[in-house]
Amino acid sequence: MRASSLVVCEHCDAVHERRRLAPRERALCVRCGAELYRAGGVDLYTMLALTLASLIVFVIANVYPIITLELQGVANRSTLWGAIHATWETGVGPVAVLAALTVFFFPLAQILMFGYVLFELLRGRAPRGFVDIMHALRLMRPWSMVEVFMLGTLVSVVKIAGLAQVTPEIGIFAFGVLTILLTTINSFDLRLLWDAHERVAADGAAAGLVA
Ligand SMILES: [Zn+2]
Repeated sequence: MRASSLVVCEHCDAVHERRRLAPRERALCVRCGAELYRAGGVDLYTMLALTLASLIVFVIANVYPIITLELQGVANRSTLWGAIHATWETGVGPVAVLAALTVFFFPLAQILMFGYVLFELLRGRAPRGFVDIMHALRLMRPWSMVEVFMLGTLVSVVKIAGLAQVTPEIGIFAFGVLTILLTTINSFDLRLLWDAHERVAADGAAAGLVA
């Protein structure tokens, strides 16, 4: 039996043999009843489309200002990087670094790695470093925290609103859309990518034998 046709329950470690499901069917663990996997969901093309959309929105969110603060006639606009730089300048370096990692680098790395893997698989090629990338994607999931940033910004805006005039800018709306897109990307069934990789690798091996 191929190892990839086995599924291990995340909750109780019971091992099951994987089988194809009818649409909307779910496979449950026979021992503890937890869900093992479900049929359907998005296909690889939809994943790639959502990933590319995320990349575009990510660029918009980072290039345009997030909010404008107006106090006694002086207006101050800030982008994400402006805010991170300002945080660094005020002496809370670790906070600035954490913000840069969780709101910028991890989400960007996720988007680029997903994009690369999906693009190669859909072209029928095995991506370089596939296994490492897949592990990195799994490890990075909890560290991509655009939604936390979004919530923090909204709370700050409400707090500052009494002191200064706050105007939301394009960046904050882009971050809102990005939050939804990244949540969708993070719900992708990584198993689909492993399956696609296995098919591509098998085709490649067959082609190698023929040549
Ligand atoms: Zn179980």
